[in-house]
Amino acid sequence: MPKSEKLEFQTEVSQLLKLMINSVYSEKEVFVRELVSNASDACDKLRYLSNTKEKLIKDDPNFKIQITINKKNNLITISDNGIGMNKKDLVSNLGTIARSGTAHFLKELSESKTKDLSLIGQFGVGFYSAFMVASQTKVTTRKAGENKLWIWTSDGESSFTIEESEDSDLLVSNRGTSIELTLTKESKEYLDKDIIENIIKRYSDHISIPIYVSDGSEKKDEKVNSVNSASAIWTRPKNKITEEQYKEFYNHAGQMFDDPWMISHYKAEGKIEYTVLNFIPSTKPFDLYDPARENRLKLYVKKGIYHRQLSRTNSSLSSFSKRYH
Ligand code: ADP
Repeated sequence: MPKSEKLEFQTEVSQLLKLMINSVYSEKEVFVRELVSNASDACDKLRYLSNTKEKLIKDDPNFKIQITINKKNNLITISDNGIGMNKKDLVSNLGTIARSGTAHFLKELSESKTKDLSLIGQFGVGFYSAFMVASQTKVTTRKAGENKLWIWTSDGESSFTIEESEDSDLLVSNRGTSIELTLTKESKEYLDKDIIENIIKRYSDHISIPIYVSDGSEKKDEKVNSVNSASAIWTRPKNKITEEQYKEFYNHAGQMFDDPWMISHYKAEGKIEYTVLNFIPSTKPFDLYDPARENRLKLYVKKGIYHRQLSRTNSSLSSFSKRYH
Protein backbone atom coordinates (compact mmCIF):
# COMPACT_ATOMS: atom_id res chain seq x y z
CA MET A 1 0.00 0.00 0.00
CA PRO A 2 1.57 3.34 -1.01
CA LYS A 3 2.22 5.76 1.82
CA SER A 4 0.22 8.92 2.12
CA GLU A 5 1.46 11.91 0.22
CA LYS A 6 1.46 15.37 1.76
CA LEU A 7 0.81 18.29 -0.58
CA GLU A 8 0.62 22.04 -0.06
CA PHE A 9 -2.45 24.08 -0.92
CA GLN A 10 -2.11 26.77 -3.57
CA THR A 11 -1.53 30.14 -1.82
CA GLU A 12 -4.98 31.45 -2.75
CA VAL A 13 -6.60 28.36 -1.25
CA SER A 14 -4.64 28.81 1.97
CA GLN A 15 -5.80 32.41 2.20
CA LEU A 16 -9.37 31.34 1.63
CA LEU A 17 -9.11 28.58 4.24
CA LYS A 18 -7.78 31.00 6.84
CA LEU A 19 -10.82 33.14 6.22
CA MET A 20 -13.13 30.15 6.58
CA ILE A 21 -11.55 28.83 9.76
CA ASN A 22 -11.44 32.19 11.50
CA SER A 23 -14.79 33.37 10.25
CA VAL A 24 -17.26 34.74 12.73
CA TYR A 25 -19.90 34.53 10.05
CA SER A 26 -23.01 33.20 11.71
CA GLU A 27 -24.77 31.45 8.83
CA LYS A 28 -22.34 28.58 8.65
CA GLU A 29 -25.16 26.32 7.54
CA VAL A 30 -24.36 27.25 3.92
CA PHE A 31 -21.79 24.46 4.00
CA VAL A 32 -24.70 21.98 3.64
CA ARG A 33 -26.00 23.78 0.57
CA GLU A 34 -22.53 23.87 -1.01
CA LEU A 35 -21.64 20.21 -0.41
CA VAL A 36 -25.09 19.02 -1.52
CA SER A 37 -24.80 21.17 -4.61
CA ASN A 38 -21.40 19.59 -5.44
CA ALA A 39 -22.86 16.11 -4.88
CA SER A 40 -25.72 16.92 -7.23
CA ASP A 41 -23.32 18.29 -9.89
CA ALA A 42 -21.26 15.08 -9.58
CA CYS A 43 -24.39 13.01 -10.26
CA ASP A 44 -25.34 15.27 -13.20
CA LYS A 45 -21.87 14.84 -14.71
CA LEU A 46 -22.09 11.06 -14.51
CA ARG A 47 -25.66 11.02 -15.81
CA TYR A 48 -24.44 12.94 -18.83
CA LEU A 49 -21.47 10.60 -19.41
CA SER A 50 -23.73 7.58 -19.08
CA ASN A 51 -25.70 8.72 -22.16
CA THR A 52 -22.82 7.30 -24.19
CA LYS A 53 -21.22 4.97 -21.61
CA GLU A 54 -24.15 3.23 -20.05
CA LYS A 55 -22.01 0.66 -18.27
CA LEU A 56 -20.69 3.33 -15.90
CA ILE A 57 -23.96 3.30 -13.98
CA LYS A 58 -25.30 -0.13 -14.87
CA ASP A 59 -24.85 -1.69 -11.43
CA ASP A 60 -26.31 1.31 -9.60
CA PRO A 61 -28.50 3.43 -11.89
CA ASN A 62 -30.35 5.44 -9.23
CA PHE A 63 -28.52 8.58 -8.25
CA LYS A 64 -28.78 9.65 -4.62
CA ILE A 65 -27.29 11.87 -1.95
CA GLN A 66 -27.01 10.47 1.56
CA ILE A 67 -26.30 12.54 4.64
CA THR A 68 -25.32 10.55 7.71
CA ILE A 69 -25.02 11.97 11.19
CA ASN A 70 -22.89 10.19 13.77
CA LYS A 71 -23.54 11.99 17.06
CA LYS A 72 -21.27 9.79 19.11
CA ASN A 73 -18.20 10.51 17.02
CA ASN A 74 -19.16 14.07 16.15
CA LEU A 75 -19.28 13.42 12.40
CA ILE A 76 -21.50 14.41 9.51
CA THR A 77 -20.99 12.75 6.13
CA ILE A 78 -22.32 13.85 2.75
CA SER A 79 -22.14 11.04 0.20
CA ASP A 80 -23.12 10.70 -3.45
CA ASN A 81 -22.91 8.04 -6.15
CA GLY A 82 -21.86 10.55 -8.78
CA ILE A 83 -18.76 10.71 -10.92
CA GLY A 84 -16.17 10.60 -8.12
CA MET A 85 -12.56 11.74 -8.40
CA ASN A 86 -9.23 10.08 -9.10
CA LYS A 87 -5.92 11.28 -7.66
CA LYS A 88 -5.33 13.86 -10.38
CA ASP A 89 -8.86 15.27 -9.92
CA LEU A 90 -8.35 15.49 -6.16
CA VAL A 91 -5.12 17.43 -6.47
CA SER A 92 -6.45 19.88 -9.00
CA ASN A 93 -10.03 20.23 -7.70
CA LEU A 94 -9.41 20.28 -3.95
CA GLY A 95 -5.98 21.83 -3.76
CA THR A 96 -5.85 24.51 -6.39
CA ILE A 97 -8.37 26.85 -7.91
CA ALA A 98 -8.20 26.96 -11.65
CA ARG A 99 -10.73 29.69 -12.12
CA SER A 100 -10.45 33.35 -11.32
CA GLY A 101 -13.14 32.85 -8.69
CA THR A 102 -11.04 32.97 -5.54
CA ALA A 103 -9.28 36.20 -6.32
CA HIS A 104 -12.67 37.84 -6.86
CA PHE A 105 -14.07 36.28 -3.72
CA LEU A 106 -11.11 37.31 -1.57
CA LYS A 107 -11.29 40.85 -2.94
CA GLU A 108 -15.03 41.05 -2.35
CA LEU A 109 -14.62 39.78 1.21
CA SER A 110 -11.76 42.07 2.10
CA GLU A 111 -13.81 45.03 0.88
CA SER A 112 -17.09 44.06 2.50
CA LYS A 113 -17.84 44.96 6.10
CA THR A 114 -20.38 42.21 6.63
CA LYS A 115 -18.11 39.43 5.30
CA ASP A 116 -20.98 37.64 3.65
CA LEU A 117 -19.55 34.17 3.22
CA SER A 118 -22.84 32.91 1.79
CA LEU A 119 -21.58 34.22 -1.54
CA ILE A 120 -18.98 31.48 -1.62
CA GLY A 121 -20.86 29.26 -4.11
CA GLN A 122 -21.04 32.07 -6.62
CA PHE A 123 -17.27 32.14 -6.89
CA GLY A 124 -16.80 28.45 -7.52
CA VAL A 125 -15.06 27.63 -4.26
CA GLY A 126 -17.98 26.17 -2.28
CA PHE A 127 -16.15 23.04 -1.13
CA TYR A 128 -13.96 25.07 1.20
CA SER A 129 -17.01 26.19 3.20
CA ALA A 130 -16.66 22.80 4.94
CA PHE A 131 -13.86 24.35 6.97
CA MET A 132 -16.24 26.84 8.59
CA VAL A 133 -17.61 23.95 10.66
CA ALA A 134 -15.03 21.16 10.47
CA SER A 135 -11.70 20.71 12.21
CA GLN A 136 -10.94 17.79 9.92
CA THR A 137 -12.32 16.96 6.47
CA LYS A 138 -11.93 13.52 4.92
CA VAL A 139 -12.92 12.89 1.32
CA THR A 140 -13.22 9.24 0.24
CA THR A 141 -13.75 8.83 -3.47
CA ARG A 142 -13.65 6.46 -6.44
CA LYS A 143 -14.11 7.68 -9.98
CA ALA A 144 -16.81 5.89 -11.98
CA GLY A 145 -15.22 3.19 -14.16
CA GLU A 146 -11.91 3.17 -12.24
CA ASN A 147 -10.64 0.77 -9.56
CA LYS A 148 -8.59 2.87 -7.21
CA LEU A 149 -10.08 4.41 -4.11
CA TRP A 150 -8.55 7.58 -2.72
CA ILE A 151 -8.70 9.39 0.59
CA TRP A 152 -8.00 13.11 0.82
CA THR A 153 -7.70 14.63 4.29
CA SER A 154 -7.02 18.07 5.62
CA ASP A 155 -7.42 20.14 8.74
CA GLY A 156 -7.57 23.25 6.56
CA GLU A 157 -4.14 24.46 7.55
CA SER A 158 -1.56 24.71 4.80
CA SER A 159 -1.55 21.16 3.49
CA PHE A 160 -3.61 18.10 2.64
CA THR A 161 -2.74 14.42 2.29
CA ILE A 162 -3.79 11.92 -0.33
CA GLU A 163 -3.50 8.17 0.01
CA GLU A 164 -4.76 5.14 -1.79
CA SER A 165 -7.06 3.04 0.34
CA GLU A 166 -9.19 -0.06 0.36
CA ASP A 167 -11.59 1.18 2.98
CA SER A 168 -14.73 1.88 0.98
CA ASP A 169 -17.05 1.77 4.00
CA LEU A 170 -17.92 5.43 3.72
CA LEU A 171 -19.02 5.23 0.09
CA VAL A 172 -22.70 4.58 -0.64
CA SER A 173 -21.88 2.81 -3.90
CA ASN A 174 -18.85 1.37 -5.68
CA ARG A 175 -18.29 4.84 -7.10
CA GLY A 176 -18.75 8.44 -6.02
CA THR A 177 -17.64 10.62 -3.16
CA SER A 178 -18.14 10.80 0.58
CA ILE A 179 -17.18 13.89 2.54
CA GLU A 180 -16.82 13.31 6.26
CA LEU A 181 -16.60 16.35 8.50
CA THR A 182 -15.39 16.24 12.09
CA LEU A 183 -17.36 19.12 13.54
CA THR A 184 -15.76 21.77 15.71
CA LYS A 185 -17.07 22.39 19.25
CA GLU A 186 -18.98 25.45 18.01
CA SER A 187 -20.72 23.51 15.25
CA LYS A 188 -22.30 20.65 17.19
CA GLU A 189 -25.79 21.85 16.25
CA TYR A 190 -25.32 20.23 12.83
CA LEU A 191 -25.49 16.84 14.49
CA ASP A 192 -29.24 17.41 14.79
CA LYS A 193 -31.25 15.65 12.10
CA ASP A 194 -34.12 18.18 12.20
CA ILE A 195 -31.73 21.08 11.74
CA ILE A 196 -30.09 19.42 8.73
CA GLU A 197 -33.47 18.54 7.20
CA ASN A 198 -34.65 22.11 7.57
CA ILE A 199 -31.51 23.47 5.92
CA ILE A 200 -32.05 21.10 3.00
CA LYS A 201 -35.68 22.11 2.64
CA ARG A 202 -34.68 25.76 2.71
CA TYR A 203 -31.73 25.72 0.29
CA SER A 204 -31.74 22.48 -1.63
CA ASP A 205 -35.33 21.53 -2.33
CA HIS A 206 -34.85 22.12 -6.05
CA ILE A 207 -32.06 19.51 -6.31
CA SER A 208 -33.41 16.88 -8.68
CA ILE A 209 -31.64 13.98 -6.95
CA PRO A 210 -33.18 12.53 -3.78
CA ILE A 211 -31.44 13.54 -0.56
CA TYR A 212 -31.74 11.18 2.42
CA VAL A 213 -30.78 12.01 5.99
CA SER A 214 -30.07 9.43 8.67
CA ASP A 215 -28.81 9.65 12.23
CA GLY A 216 -29.16 5.97 13.00
CA SER A 217 -32.38 6.50 14.99
CA GLU A 218 -34.62 5.20 12.19
CA LYS A 219 -36.38 1.91 12.83
CA LYS A 220 -35.25 -1.10 10.80
CA ASP A 221 -37.58 -1.50 7.76
CA GLU A 222 -38.82 2.10 8.20
CA LYS A 223 -39.46 3.59 4.78
CA VAL A 224 -37.13 6.53 4.40
CA ASN A 225 -38.36 9.36 2.21
CA SER A 226 -36.16 11.90 0.55
CA VAL A 227 -36.10 15.24 2.32
CA ASN A 228 -36.28 17.30 -0.88
CA SER A 229 -38.97 17.18 -3.60
CA ALA A 230 -36.38 15.55 -5.91
CA SER A 231 -37.96 16.45 -9.23
CA ALA A 232 -36.57 18.82 -11.84
CA ILE A 233 -38.34 22.13 -11.26
CA TRP A 234 -39.21 22.73 -14.91
CA THR A 235 -41.12 19.45 -15.11
CA ARG A 236 -43.54 20.60 -12.40
CA PRO A 237 -46.73 22.51 -13.22
CA LYS A 238 -46.12 26.25 -13.06
CA ASN A 239 -48.87 26.86 -10.53
CA LYS A 240 -47.22 24.40 -8.13
CA ILE A 241 -43.91 26.29 -8.09
CA THR A 242 -43.48 29.08 -5.56
CA GLU A 243 -41.40 32.26 -6.06
CA GLU A 244 -39.06 30.94 -3.40
CA GLN A 245 -38.51 27.65 -5.28
CA TYR A 246 -37.80 29.47 -8.55
CA LYS A 247 -35.33 31.69 -6.72
CA GLU A 248 -33.58 28.75 -5.06
CA PHE A 249 -33.16 27.02 -8.40
CA TYR A 250 -31.85 30.22 -9.98
CA ASN A 251 -29.36 30.65 -7.14
CA HIS A 252 -28.12 27.10 -7.59
CA ALA A 253 -28.11 26.71 -11.38
CA GLY A 254 -26.90 30.23 -12.11
CA GLN A 255 -24.69 30.57 -9.04
CA MET A 256 -26.25 33.99 -8.60
CA PHE A 257 -27.39 35.17 -5.20
CA ASP A 258 -29.62 38.09 -6.13
CA ASP A 259 -33.33 37.88 -6.89
CA PRO A 260 -34.15 37.18 -10.53
CA TRP A 261 -35.40 40.32 -12.26
CA MET A 262 -37.58 38.32 -14.62
CA ILE A 263 -38.53 34.66 -14.97
CA SER A 264 -39.89 33.13 -18.14
CA HIS A 265 -41.08 29.55 -18.02
CA TYR A 266 -42.92 27.88 -20.90
CA LYS A 267 -43.26 24.65 -22.80
CA ALA A 268 -43.01 24.40 -26.58
CA GLU A 269 -44.81 21.53 -28.24
CA GLY A 270 -44.52 20.44 -31.84
CA LYS A 271 -42.17 18.21 -33.74
CA ILE A 272 -39.80 18.50 -30.85
CA GLU A 273 -40.84 19.30 -27.34
CA TYR A 274 -38.88 21.36 -24.92
CA THR A 275 -39.34 23.45 -21.82
CA VAL A 276 -37.68 26.81 -21.37
CA LEU A 277 -36.89 28.29 -17.99
CA ASN A 278 -35.03 31.56 -18.30
CA PHE A 279 -33.93 33.93 -15.56
CA ILE A 280 -32.75 37.47 -16.08
CA PRO A 281 -30.57 38.55 -13.15
CA SER A 282 -31.12 41.82 -11.36
CA THR A 283 -27.37 42.34 -10.86
CA LYS A 284 -24.50 42.02 -13.30
CA PRO A 285 -22.57 38.73 -12.85
CA PHE A 286 -18.98 39.50 -11.83
CA ASP A 287 -17.62 37.36 -14.67
CA LEU A 288 -20.05 38.47 -17.40
CA TYR A 289 -17.32 38.96 -20.00
CA ASP A 290 -15.15 36.05 -18.95
CA PRO A 291 -15.10 33.57 -21.86
CA ALA A 292 -14.75 30.71 -19.37
CA ARG A 293 -17.97 31.74 -17.61
CA GLU A 294 -20.05 28.63 -16.99
CA ASN A 295 -23.36 30.07 -16.07
CA ARG A 296 -24.94 30.89 -19.37
CA LEU A 297 -27.91 29.09 -20.83
CA LYS A 298 -27.78 25.42 -19.96
CA LEU A 299 -29.26 22.59 -21.91
CA TYR A 300 -30.69 19.65 -20.01
CA VAL A 301 -31.61 16.38 -21.67
CA LYS A 302 -33.58 13.77 -19.75
CA LYS A 303 -33.14 15.99 -16.68
CA GLY A 304 -29.34 15.65 -16.86
CA ILE A 305 -27.24 18.57 -17.93
CA TYR A 306 -26.19 18.25 -21.57
CA HIS A 307 -24.19 21.40 -21.99
CA ARG A 308 -23.17 24.00 -19.43
CA GLN A 309 -22.72 27.03 -21.61
CA LEU A 310 -24.81 27.48 -24.70
CA SER A 311 -24.06 30.37 -26.91
CA ARG A 312 -25.34 31.18 -30.39
CA THR A 313 -22.14 30.03 -32.04
CA ASN A 314 -21.71 26.91 -30.02
CA SER A 315 -20.80 24.07 -32.35
CA SER A 316 -21.79 21.47 -29.81
CA LEU A 317 -25.39 22.45 -30.44
CA SER A 318 -25.17 20.99 -33.93
CA SER A 319 -23.57 17.82 -32.64
CA PHE A 320 -26.36 17.73 -30.08
CA SER A 321 -29.02 17.85 -32.80
CA LYS A 322 -27.26 15.09 -34.70
CA ARG A 323 -27.25 12.84 -31.69
CA TYR A 324 -30.67 13.49 -30.30
CA HIS A 325 -32.92 14.13 -33.35
P1 ADP B 1 -17.38 24.38 -7.86
O1 ADP B 1 -18.27 23.26 -7.42
O2 ADP B 1 -18.11 25.66 -7.98
O3 ADP B 1 -16.54 24.06 -9.07
P2 ADP B 1 -16.05 23.77 -5.40
O4 ADP B 1 -14.94 24.39 -4.61
O5 ADP B 1 -17.31 23.62 -4.63
O6 ADP B 1 -16.29 24.62 -6.69
O7 ADP B 1 -15.57 22.34 -5.91
C1 ADP B 1 -14.37 22.24 -6.65
C2 ADP B 1 -14.38 21.03 -7.56
O8 ADP B 1 -14.22 19.82 -6.80
C3 ADP B 1 -15.68 20.82 -8.34
O9 ADP B 1 -15.72 21.60 -9.52
C4 ADP B 1 -15.60 19.33 -8.64
O10 ADP B 1 -14.79 19.09 -9.79
C5 ADP B 1 -14.89 18.75 -7.42
N1 ADP B 1 -15.86 18.19 -6.47
C6 ADP B 1 -16.31 18.75 -5.33
N2 ADP B 1 -17.21 17.94 -4.72
C7 ADP B 1 -17.33 16.83 -5.49
C8 ADP B 1 -18.10 15.62 -5.42
N3 ADP B 1 -18.96 15.38 -4.41
N4 ADP B 1 -17.93 14.70 -6.40
C9 ADP B 1 -17.07 14.91 -7.43
N5 ADP B 1 -16.33 16.03 -7.58
C10 ADP B 1 -16.45 16.98 -6.62
